[in-house]
Formats: sequence, structure tokens, C-alpha cells
Amino acid sequence: MTDPTPAAGSAIVIGAGFGGLALAIRLQSAGIATTLVEARDKPGGRAYVWHDQGHVFDAGPTVITDPEALKELWALSGQDMARDVTLLPVSPFYRLLWSDGKSFDYVNDGDQLEQQIRAFNPDDLEGYRRFHDYAEAVYQEGYLKLGTTPFLKMGQMLNAAPALVKLEAYRSVHSVVARFIKDPHLRQAFSFHTLLVGGNPFSTSAIYALIHALERRGGVWFAKGGTNQLVAGMVALFERLGGRLMLNAKVARIETEGARTTGVTLVDGRRLDAGMVASNGDVMHSYRDLLGQTRRGRTKAMILGKQRWSMSLFVLHFGLSEMPKGLAHHSVLFGPRYKELVNEIFKGPKLPKDFSLYLHSPCVTDPSLAPPGMSTHYVLAPVPHLGRADVDWATEGPAYADRILASLEDRLIPNLRRNLTVQRIFTPADFKSELSAHHGSAFSIEPILAQSAWFRPHNRDRSIRNFYIVGAGTHPGAGIPGVVGSAKATAQVMLADRAQA
Ligand SMILES: Cc1cc2nc3c(=O)[nH]c(=O)nc-3n(C[C@H](O)[C@H](O)[C@H](O)COP(=O)(O)OP(=O)(O)OC[C@H]3O[C@@H](n4cnc5c(N)ncnc54)[C@H](O)[C@@H]3O)c2cc1C
Repeated sequence: MTDPTPAAGSAIVIGAGFGGLALAIRLQSAGIATTLVEARDKPGGRAYVWHDQGHVFDAGPTVITDPEALKELWALSGQDMARDVTLLPVSPFYRLLWSDGKSFDYVNDGDQLEQQIRAFNPDDLEGYRRFHDYAEAVYQEGYLKLGTTPFLKMGQMLNAAPALVKLEAYRSVHSVVARFIKDPHLRQAFSFHTLLVGGNPFSTSAIYALIHALERRGGVWFAKGGTNQLVAGMVALFERLGGRLMLNAKVARIETEGARTTGVTLVDGRRLDAGMVASNGDVMHSYRDLLGQTRRGRTKAMILGKQRWSMSLFVLHFGLSEMPKGLAHHSVLFGPRYKELVNEIFKGPKLPKDFSLYLHSPCVTDPSLAPPGMSTHYVLAPVPHLGRADVDWATEGPAYADRILASLEDRLIPNLRRNLTVQRIFTPADFKSELSAHHGSAFSIEPILAQSAWFRPHNRDRSIRNFYIVGAGTHPGAGIPGVVGSAKATAQVMLADRAQA
């Protein structure tokens, strides 16, 4: 069974995560007839959404940074993002809470930020300013110059190497922060961000210190109605441009003839032809399962199997019959251990006994995400991926959820369990089954230097010359700015290839 054959030069993008959507918009804006095929019943990927008893539960990303990168997608066709999406500012960006009772409001206002740093340790003020300058420098080099450069050749890596050495990219984020800042709480405050993109602060390249500059420059935002509304806005833009989105359309196989792909076959047997195919699906799934009939697919899957994969997440969504007072939109609740805990999460063989938590309470910014007077939340705990700790989440999950709720009630939300109206959990096993994520990883390949830029799966495959990768598994990596940047890099290559064809 063959679907109406798309015109020559057309493209298929597998997967409607942020990376796939951004790439599809870029291709369609450039006049390439693009079909976006998504396995699930809704677009968004990690940014899926559930509606339950009047609560809107965004599944994944909630911290929106670098809004300019998103606006650019609309500007490509002379449109304004405001037509489809309203971004609301979030302040503080995060409230950091330690088990010893200390807290820190991570705000964008320089004076307020410095006042709090002074209260922790007056000697760290100068160090913080130097850290800020460092973060600015890596932002300029690592984000603006290299963030959307497709690293297809080793030579490009060699060209970038002097700047990376100068910025000490071989050091970890935490070691750079620790060089500037002495207070242990502040060291956590300025290094935990890598966890938001799947990186261990103690081994992720110091280049990721750029997140601090990214947030200070562009702010932290939340899409009105939830992240799902940003996804919906991107879909609306894509379809207005003439693009075609197919939902419930899981790709079973990427078809090849010699060293080229000719299209895809869906699990229901439908065949779609195209001149170019890009995958936004998990990179291991793409090579091992979708290209498993080819030698290239099998070889690349073997290489990927030896790489280090990011941690997973345990996500607990819940609704409350009231809006707790005094909450911030984003709270980070550090446990008593920091380095030891993250090392157990990234390197250990089992689920650690304790946890650090990230609580998302969107009704602080937008009450419309819950019925009047009520509130919607999710709390997540970073946990090892299934390749390290083969936890039976069906059994372990409910008990783990209870411990997390008890801890939240104890530390932040009195009477939480009494006011609980609805809850659902999403575990590493769900990342694996729902998103075909290798080892149930929440963020794909771990962002260490030896797995970044040229060392990451390339935006275009080396052997199948019209097969491309977009999303967290390719350069630059996970996080919305990362995958939207990957779409820019991949689109550049695809458009250049088409121009040469
Ligand atoms: C709980 C959580 C919270 C996060 N919070 C933040 C945050 O606050 N800010 C931030 O910037 N980042 C955050 N991240 C990271 C960010 O969400 C991800 O890095 C990013 O969304 C991944 O996008 P992607 O383009 O790689 O695609 P994905 O979201 O992984 O989507 C891939 C899509 O491909 C589809 N697919 C896979 N295989 C097939 C197939 N065979 N056929 C058809 N379709 C297929 C999948 O169904 C999926 O829809 C968070 C992640 C998680 C999990």
C-alpha cells in the first residue's frame, strides 16, 4: 500500500518532538513539502500532555529559555509567534531549598541575586561576577557560534578546539563553578542546571555553564496554557505553511536503496516515499530498529550501545484541591547529599535511597491549568536509566511516589496528601515503552565532552547520505534550546544537500 507519492525533493521527518517540529517548520518554510510522522496520538514527544479532571498535565519541559530561537521559526515565513503562543515571564526562575532550611531565589535581577549571594558568603560576590563573565564567554563561543553548527567533519572540531581549550571545556561545570565560588550551597545553585538537560554537573563539560548566561540574557518563560500550547502553536504554524502531520503513524522501517533512503514504512504497512528522511526518534531506536536491516544501522547501533546514556526521570503528576500558599513556579529541593547522589544516579547499579526533587507548579504563573481554586503540579526525581538499574518500576513506582509525596508534605506543602485529588506517574519504563528511549533515558546520550559536537551522532548520517538526525541525540543535545538548535543545524545541511542535488 503506497500513500500518494510525495513530490521529488520532499522530506519525511519521523517524530514530532520539539526537534522534529522545528525541523519540519524550517523545511516547509524553505518550500520543501514535508510530512511529519508521529507514533503517538499527540505531538510533542517529551512535551506530551494529559488532561485529567480539569487539570492540564504537561509531561516534560516547562522551563522555556531562549525565546528568540523559537520566534525565529515563525519569522522564517514572516509570521509572528505571538499569533499562536503567549510566553509568560517566570520569577524567580527557581527557588532552591536545602534540607538544612536554607533557600535561594534564583532571580534575574542582578542586585537581588548579589544580595542573596552576599548573605551566603560575602567573599563569593566577586567570584560570582567572574563566573558570570565566564558563562558569558562560553555562551558566545559554545552557543552562538557552535550551537547550530553541524559538526560533520573532524576538521570542524579541530577548528573549534583552540576556543574550547581556552574556555577549559575539558573541565566539568562543577569544577569551574568551584574555582570561582566557595560556599557549598552556592556551588550547587550555579551547577545544578546540567541536570535539566541530562548532564552530571561533575562530569558535564564546563561549556554547559552557558545555561547561566542563557537564562540571565533571555529570561525563563512559561507558555500560557502550558508547554502543550507551544507545541500546538508550532503544529499550527507547520500546517499553515502547508505541512502534513500524521499522528498514530509509527514508523517500522526506514527504506533504503544502496546508500540512500527512499522513504519509510509504517507499522500498519503504509509506505511513504521521500527524497530525504530525518529522524527525531531516539537515535538508538532509529539505527537499531528502523535501519536494522542495513549494515550501517547495525554498526551504528553497536557504537551507540557503547556510549554513555543520560539518566532517566521518575515523574509524578498530581492535582490538589487548593493552591498552596507561597510556592514558587519552580522549586528545587536538594537532599542532604549532592555529589554522592548524582554519582549514584549516573554511575550506580541501583536506585539510590534518597532523592533530590524538582517541583513544577504552573498555576503560580497560569491558574488556568487547574479547575478554579485548585492546583496542578509535577515533581520529578532524577534516577538511573534502566541499563544501570533494572528497577521493576511497576512494583517500585507507587512506593517511590508515596515517599516523594511524604517528603514534599514534610518540606514544602503541608497537608499535601489530604488535598490530593489526582495523580499519575511516568517512570523510566514508560520512557522506554512510550518513546522508544534506549535504556529509558530521559535525555538521550550523556552530554560529556567525549560525546559532544563531532563526537555526537552527526546531523547527517555518514553513509546513508540523505538520512539525517534531529533532536537530543545529535549536536548540540537535549533541552528545548538544544533540540531547536539541532533543527537549525540539520536544516542547513538538508537545504544545502538539496541545492546540490
Ligand atoms: C520530564 C522532563 C522535563 C524536562 N524539562 C525541560 C525543561 O524544563 N526545559 C528544557 O529545555 N528541556 C527540558 N527537558 C528536556 C527536553 O524536553 C528534551 O530534551 C526535548 O524535548 C527532546 O526533544 P526531541 O526533539 O529530542 O524529541 P522527543 O521529545 O524525544 O520526541 C521524539 C518523538 O519521536 C517520536 N517517535 C519515536 N520513534 C518513532 C517512530 N518509530 N515513528 C514515529 N515517531 C516516533 C516519539 O513518539 C516522540 O514524539 C525535559 C525532559 C523531560 C523528560
